[in-house]
Amino acid sequence: MAAMVLEQAGGPLRARERDLRQPRRGELLIKVKACAVCRTDLHVIDGDLPGISHPLIPGHEIVGEVLAAGDGACWQAGARVGVPWLGWTCGKCDHCLAGRENLCDRARFTGYQIDGGFATHLIADHRYCFAIDDSYDDAHAAPLLCAGLIGFRSLVMAGEAERLGIYGFGAAAHIVAQVARHQGRQVFAFTRHGDRQAQEFAKRLGAAWAGASGDTPPEELDAAIIFAPVGELVPMALRAVRKGGTVVCGGIHMSDIPAFPYRILWGERVLRSVANLTRRDAEEFLALAPKVPVATEVQKFALSEANTAVGRLRAGALNGAAVLVMQH
Ligand SMILES: [Zn+2]
Ligand SMILES: [Zn+2]
Repeated sequence: MAAMVLEQAGGPLRARERDLRQPRRGELLIKVKACAVCRTDLHVIDGDLPGISHPLIPGHEIVGEVLAAGDGACWQAGARVGVPWLGWTCGKCDHCLAGRENLCDRARFTGYQIDGGFATHLIADHRYCFAIDDSYDDAHAAPLLCAGLIGFRSLVMAGEAERLGIYGFGAAAHIVAQVARHQGRQVFAFTRHGDRQAQEFAKRLGAAWAGASGDTPPEELDAAIIFAPVGELVPMALRAVRKGGTVVCGGIHMSDIPAFPYRILWGERVLRSVANLTRRDAEEFLALAPKVPVATEVQKFALSEANTAVGRLRAGALNGAAVLVMQH
């Protein structure tokens, strides 16, 4: 199998050939068709996350076809599956038993502790693979697996907010905006200063207003989701949210949050993060997406162009999601 491998923190990814192995009990051997590139992949590559052991194959928004199933695996060869970030949980810790397996103390994640989808093949635990609706082709389904799932969990955590702010209008935001509009909410999109292209993109997706992150929106927000990994956005979002509102940090990593006056949190505003996903999130969102219907915007790259795709994401030079499409 071919893979783009992270051999040291900071990258670049290197094209390498690896031996294929057969799936063990409960595992699937999957032929990767498409794998989207997520901001978390940048944090993995840069070494921003703890406990990465190299070499590692990143990638956790995977759509593929089951080639072989180990004993006890409930998928058959030929099935199309999606493989998300959550790759394994213990099922025994307090968090798992309370339905919060996203917080499992021993959780393992695809493309982080488990080799991921920047490759022609991967091995995955069958319990963490999901069916993909037929209305999506492989490349357009891939961003649903993280941008969609984590975005959806962030949206749920934002509560009943009618006026929803979204800071950082990339892959997750472009999906969340569609779901939010479907639910009858108004979307206010905040982008980098002067990023007209992202602001136009947000408006095309139904945003009621789009501006720069420091701008004051025309109305007070009921909640805001921050997808950009920029700590300065936290006090900005708190200032834009009305009393009782919630600010959700949807990313896995963020630069330090500057000190801010207590009065912008007071008034029972809530500041919280969202971590990972549960399998229930995946089932709910993947059932909802075709009903909206969520249309993903993708820019395709070959597996060998993974470094280019990563660079475009880093530069903010994408509308929607970068997706690696594998040639077999
Ligand atoms: Zn656990
Ligand atoms: Zn991700």
